[in-house]
Amino acid sequence: MPPFELPSQHWVIASNNAGKLRELNALLAPLGLDARVQRDFAVPDAEETGLSFVENALIKARHAARLTGLPALADDSGLEVDALEGEPGIWSARYAGPGANDAANNARLLEALAGLPDERRGARYQCVLVLMRHAADPTPLICQAAWEGRILTAPRGTGGFGYDPLFFVPDQGHTAAELDPALKNRLSHRGQALARLRAALEGKPV
Ligand code: IMP
Repeated sequence: MPPFELPSQHWVIASNNAGKLRELNALLAPLGLDARVQRDFAVPDAEETGLSFVENALIKARHAARLTGLPALADDSGLEVDALEGEPGIWSARYAGPGANDAANNARLLEALAGLPDERRGARYQCVLVLMRHAADPTPLICQAAWEGRILTAPRGTGGFGYDPLFFVPDQGHTAAELDPALKNRLSHRGQALARLRAALEGKPV
């Protein structure tokens, strides 16, 4: 497979989510790229009108590429809970309503799962990364990964963001919010999707 040729080493990261940006910046640092965040170019959030992670990631990357003229990397991610038939899914950031904060989303999730035993609290994070060379790129690079876990009945830990204090990772015996940030980045949906993106950029099989 030929490497995905970027027209420039300057990228824009199509997100204004502080938690995601912290993780993406740490994950991208070893690539030696000049990846700037869309806020630096006064790019507002795109309207996420898609019905899948991949559609929303494409919308966000295209929006940032169009407004900056730079290659753009977008992350669309969320939590799928088995007992809720995959909800909150693409609605994860807005689960408790438009503009909801993490605390309100977590409270709604705990309420939705109230009374369910551990074996019915299975969940996974999903992440789709899209890299577009320009706004009209007909062959964007798309990489996806998931991270399996279970939803606790009460929060644990102060790291990470979003649903991390409720997301228990059985292999580690800790929630995502209790993990060292570097370990979370190695194991997570976002870390794994970025590892695939890196491999694709180096022309390796994804
Ligand atoms: P997006 O910005 O529309 O992609 O929404 C992503 C939402 O999914 C976040 O606001 C969180 O609620 C949730 N999410 C995605 N990745 C993570 C993670 O690594 N930890 C915790 N929550 C996450």
